[in-house]
Amino acid sequence: MPYDTLAIEDHGPVRRILLARPEQRNAQSQQMLDELMAALDDAQRDDAVRVVVLGGRGAHFSAGHDLKQAQAERANFTVEERWAYEELRYFDYSLRIWDFPKPTIAQVQGACVAGGFMIANMCDLVVAGESAFFSDPVGHTLGAAATEVLIHPWVMGARKAKEMLFTGGKIDAREAQAIGMVNRVVADEELPDAALAMAQQIAKAPPFGLRLIKRSINRSLDAQGLRTALQAHFDTHQLSHLSEGFLTARDRGLASAIQKNTNVKTEKAA
Ligand code: ZN
Repeated sequence: MPYDTLAIEDHGPVRRILLARPEQRNAQSQQMLDELMAALDDAQRDDAVRVVVLGGRGAHFSAGHDLKQAQAERANFTVEERWAYEELRYFDYSLRIWDFPKPTIAQVQGACVAGGFMIANMCDLVVAGESAFFSDPVGHTLGAAATEVLIHPWVMGARKAKEMLFTGGKIDAREAQAIGMVNRVVADEELPDAALAMAQQIAKAPPFGLRLIKRSINRSLDAQGLRTALQAHFDTHQLSHLSEGFLTARDRGLASAIQKNTNVKTEKAA
């Protein structure tokens, strides 16, 4: 199936889905997100596909949601319109990745920011290139209560999540590995092969067993309240879209707001 914003590769039992708007740092347009869901449906239906790798073409995994499109098409959404839009395309789509019945690996290089951070962390495993960095600066840049899905404390611990979100800073691949958010860090040139090798190893196991392992681990997180906490945060996030901080950023232009904050690190100002 041809996509405008994705590139699809098959490597035996592994399907690699690449975000493919490299000129826009793989900013997630509505079309890209819709195509990603169609590509996942296709990968789920195809019994030959046992593991999915999600990556990005070019120097960056993804800089986040396409804020130029957001400004042009959604800046004046009503509460009801924004809620419906973000519930489907950001919340439900993200949870679709989380609940995908086959193992998933995020293959991350360069920027993995805001909406990009959100979907990378919906994958079961993360393999990063040395250039990868992770951040969610929207509290600083847009006055928003983090991204729509607050996966942060679940993948990095509450203390680090607070530091990242309070400072608007970023963490590099090595630190992300040290705190357990990233499984493996490799040189950028080795990243596609390293992610593929991990996926091939996983694909050797019988698929139904893998499916049950994923189900049980995700259920153990649900038993700790993951899904309820994410749903509650989605509501809180919607409140932040009505705040003075957000409306001021919107009136200045969403896309320009995000540019200011790209060089901050969590530990030391760059
Ligand atoms: Zn939002």
